Amino acid sequence: MIQYPVALEIIESVAREHRLEYENLVCNPVFGKSYEQLCGRVLAESIASPEEMPPFDNSAMDGFAICADKTANATLERPTRFRVLGTIAAGTRATEAIGFTDKQPVCWEIMTGAPFPSGAFDAVVKIEDVQVIRNDQGQITEILISQPQAKNQFIRPQGEDFKRGDLVLKAGTRMHSGHVMGFAGLGVTDFRVVRKPRIAVLSTGNELCLYNTKNLEPGMIRNSSGPFLETALAHEYSADVQYFGVVSDDADGFLKRLAAIRASSPSPDLIITTGAVSMGKYDFIVEALKRLDAQIYFHKTAIRPGKPALFAKLPSIHEKTRENSPEIPSSLFFGIPGNPVSTAVGLRFLIGPCVRAISGMPVEPPLRVQLAATIEKPTPLRCFMRATLEGPSGGASVLEHQGSAIISSLMHSDGWVVLPEGTGQVTAGSWVDFFRER
Ligand code: AMP
Ligand code: MG
Repeated sequence: MIQYPVALEIIESVAREHRLEYENLVCNPVFGKSYEQLCGRVLAESIASPEEMPPFDNSAMDGFAICADKTANATLERPTRFRVLGTIAAGTRATEAIGFTDKQPVCWEIMTGAPFPSGAFDAVVKIEDVQVIRNDQGQITEILISQPQAKNQFIRPQGEDFKRGDLVLKAGTRMHSGHVMGFAGLGVTDFRVVRKPRIAVLSTGNELCLYNTKNLEPGMIRNSSGPFLETALAHEYSADVQYFGVVSDDADGFLKRLAAIRASSPSPDLIITTGAVSMGKYDFIVEALKRLDAQIYFHKTAIRPGKPALFAKLPSIHEKTRENSPEIPSSLFFGIPGNPVSTAVGLRFLIGPCVRAISGMPVEPPLRVQLAATIEKPTPLRCFMRATLEGPSGGASVLEHQGSAIISSLMHSDGWVVLPEGTGQVTAGSWVDFFRER
């Protein structure tokens, strides 16, 4: 049995040798290839800003463009009177400066997002902060300002958000809708992204039925870990997932199915099996992998749940039976226990880091939270406990039922508290690592 940090190191160093290739993604509304295709994908090459954002100085408020100095002596009793030169709406071209030859100060009525007039104007005063004077047609002809205004207020300067050449997004980032907002604003449409990982999932267990089984036969249960992996990998890891169903607990049948999975085209980068890696009489995965000459990097990690998980590489196969048949490349392999919560931990803390690493993503940093109550734990194991982030303290409350077959607490948790190996108790108020559920 190895310690969890050692397991992580092994996973990351093996994964670095199996980095996924890059591909191009072009977003173009005309061809129906919207930014939606970007969400969940990992950026392969950093993006620098091609432009400034905003592209021009503009008003942050509906109000009036003024010269702030002219309000220096403004008071309620003696307000400064400005003559209104006209209105600048959003979407109009930048207005040229108008000089201050008039005796009376002048201003422009300006709308939010409208180009700020260059030259002698240097502040926006909000419409709420002025008294407007209208002519008989109801047009604003003058305004009264009754207190000094600050220079540059409510002006959004060109390039305030992004300067040309600024880093917009770093390689290795998994993209989401917030990123889309920036790309769309800057007109960034062409991306180098990491190819989606191809992941095959196979469940083992004589007792497993399809989830749509209405009346369970005695001794049977519905397969919950398989559909969990399939959906989590597709949605939370943006993988191309192929689900290969269930095999019964026998090595020969398993090896046959595994050969079919590997021969599928394109072959998977990663194969995940659930079940049959523990100490039971029918736990055949290790024996089967040995028959394949697989390189087993580790089997059993000092964690709870998920201790029996196994990480291996299946060697490439040169198909000799058919002329010119392509070589089947090597695949990484995770065998994780089938108990639903063990499967979830295997995905979150072993497979997830592997998928990140083959995709060129950095190691995921944990959040740090305070434990709401003291927790007892087995000293040698690192424990991943389902917890909620509730309460006035904002700390993490470990849920009561932590059994590896208890699905309900998985459904109600916000994520995982990590309690380190080497201690039998972590006291209330201690700072611990926390990983969100997904
Ligand atoms: P195993 O990892 O095969 O030793 O199974 C451990 C426990 O998890 C047993 O109670 C199994 O019935 C259960 N189990 C295994 N695979 C699944 C699955 N795909 N869905 C739900 N429970 C499972
Ligand atoms: Mg089993």
